[in-house]
This record gives sequence, C-alpha cells and structure tokens, in this order.
Amino acid sequence: MSQRIWLSSPHLGEEETAFVEDAFRTNWIAPLGPHVDGFERDLASYAGVGHAAAVSSGTAAIHLALLLLGVERGDTVFCSSLTFVGSCNPILYCGAQPVFIDSEPQTWNMSPSALERAFAWAKQEGRMPRCVVVVNLYGQSADMDAILPICQRYGVPVLEDAAESLGALYKGRASGSFGRIGVFSFNGNKIITTSGGGMLVADDEALVQRARKLATQAREPAAHYEHVEVGFNYRMSNVLAGIGRGQLKVLEQRVAQRRQVFETYRKELAGHTQLHWMPEPAGDRSTRWLTCFTLDGPHASVKRDLVLRYLERHSIEARPVWKPMHQQPLFRGAPYFAHEGGDLSGSLFDAGICLPSGSNMTDEQQARVIEQLRRALALAEDTRAAA
Ligand SMILES: *Cc1c(COP(=O)(O)O)cnc(C)c1O
Repeated sequence: MSQRIWLSSPHLGEEETAFVEDAFRTNWIAPLGPHVDGFERDLASYAGVGHAAAVSSGTAAIHLALLLLGVERGDTVFCSSLTFVGSCNPILYCGAQPVFIDSEPQTWNMSPSALERAFAWAKQEGRMPRCVVVVNLYGQSADMDAILPICQRYGVPVLEDAAESLGALYKGRASGSFGRIGVFSFNGNKIITTSGGGMLVADDEALVQRARKLATQAREPAAHYEHVEVGFNYRMSNVLAGIGRGQLKVLEQRVAQRRQVFETYRKELAGHTQLHWMPEPAGDRSTRWLTCFTLDGPHASVKRDLVLRYLERHSIEARPVWKPMHQQPLFRGAPYFAHEGGDLSGSLFDAGICLPSGSNMTDEQQARVIEQLRRALALAEDTRAAA
C-alpha cells in the first residue's frame, strides 16, 4: 500500500528549531515573551497593518474581534455562508444571530449583490448588523472594492477572516489588511503553521491593545490581579510564536510552491473539460492554499462523491468544498441571501472538490494524485453515461 497523501500537511523550514531552542535556552517557554512580540511585529509588517496580537487560534481571534466590534447578545452579524465553521461559531459565543450571505462565481467569496440585498432587508427589519464577517476562501481574496463601499454606506465595520488567505494579494495589497480587523490562522493545515495559533490585526492600536487584554483574562494593570470585565485565556505561547517567526520567513516560498502545485494540476488535467478550476481574477494573487475545482453537468454531485470515494480508496485525502453554513443543522433557521440566479455556495458544495495541495508534496505524489484522478473522472463519466 503506498503512503497516504494528505490534503495539506505541516511543512517546517530550517529556522523554526533555532527559535524554539532560543525559547528553551532563555527559559522563556510561556507565557508570552520576546518571540510573541517579534512574531506580532513581523506579521504586522508583512501584512502592512499597524498592529497585531498573537492568540491561541484563528477562532479565538474572531471571537475577540467580534467583542471588539461591540457584538452583544441578540445582535445580528452578517457572514459568508461558504466557509469553515470557525468563521461563525464565535457569533454564537457572543449570543448573536448570524445572517448568511452567498458567494459569487468570480471569487467564490461573498457576493456583493447578495450583501446589498441583505442590507436592504436588515434596514427594513430594523436588524442592522453589528459587523460583516467577510471570508477569503482557499487562498483567494473576496472582491473588497465591491464589498467595502456597501458596508461603508451602511456604516457597518468589516471583520476580514483571512485564515485561509495569508500570503494572498488583492490588487497588490495583502489579504487580511482590508477590514477594520483582520484575522489569520496558523492551524496545522494552513499555509504556515505554529501547530495551532492565530493573529488579530488592525491599524487601530487601541483595538489591538484591548484584544491583548481580553486575551489575558482581562487583567487590569495592578500587581494584585484586578478584574472588572470578563476575559479569556487566548494568548499564544512564546514557543509557538518562535515556530511562527521561522514559518513567516518561508511564507513567500510556500505561496510559490502551492501555486506551482496548482499549475501542475491545471496543465496535466487540461484535457478534462468537465473540470472547472476555482477562478483567480486578473490583478489578484491567490495563494492556491488548496487547489479546488467543480465538476459540471446535472450529475455533478454524484460524480463528486464517486471521485472522492475513489481517491480515498487509493489513500489520497481529497475533500468536498466547504458545506455552506446556511445548510448546517447548527444554523437552521438563520436568514440566507442567495446570489442572483440562485444558491451558488450550495452548488459549489455539491460539485466541488479540494485536492491535496501541500507545499511538501513530492512530484511523485502529485503524479499519483493526477493518475488516480484521471481514472476516477473516466469512471465518473461512464457512470453518468449509464445513468
Ligand atoms: C481555519 C479557519 C478558521 C479558524 O482557525 P483556527 O486557527 O483553526 O481556529 C476560521 N476561518 C476559516 C475560513 C478557516 O479556514
């Protein structure tokens, strides 16, 4: 049996151990410490934002960001529907109610026209959202030039979930730098990882300082541990921040490698015309964190399942595109605004597949994925012909 090929596995560089050894040598394992400050500075500078707070996960960063934007029990929060649940679980932590917005075909991210209709509805219902969570999927930025002016017009801040898009550029500017607050994740499967971790970024220094305070049990500046508000234990340890500093040094390399993985898939599978790659609008740089495609035709979801099962039988980890949040039992009853022409995120889920895309996948491994995928696609076509 050949070795399993993973969707996206951690890929360490050469400098991480030196940073970690330094943390051990100085006995600065936890809490906080110089690597946390260094990682925050390095990342803020990479993303072109004023300030950053390193925390224990991307989900924790989103939770803090919602609190910083004033989300309270009973509030409404708009959020992209096509995403990982980490984008919107924190809405429930706050006791707020999500309203889900569909995707548009050019980026697979938030549809500006669906957003516009959601705002018109919210105004009529007296349910203006406290903020809009805009997600950048699979390494591709949402269309910020269309989305931001709509939110500005209604005076509602944007929380940019860039957990999957660190290293991406939108019209030359770093993804994650567009919202009032931006969030990154360093979970094990992301483009760079600290094994687990996250970062909250903003130009507004006061916001980021407040994030650090809330993430440190909301401790007041007093030696006797004074507390006047609820806090959390959400800070990143000095050891993990050391790994992050090493990983950040290889980020550009990882982007190039993931893009190369995508190019190889595209070139090698060019003959399969039923296969449509996730688009990358001109002027943007997707990181191609995951290479994704959809199948076409009326039996797309049957074919999708067949292809996924076939790859699984051959020890290849591929996945469906995210199941949209408006279809999740957890969010049953939440309002949903579809793109014109119908539920696009639903059809991306029905027909979409994410392929192994790790920057440490070998050429031989990728060749194996391509060979098995060709066979699976041929089989899927036959099945459809027989149906
Ligand atoms: C990974 C991810 C998160 C959550 O990040 P964690 O660090 O795993 O908590 C949030 N949103 C999206 C879109 C993600 O992919």
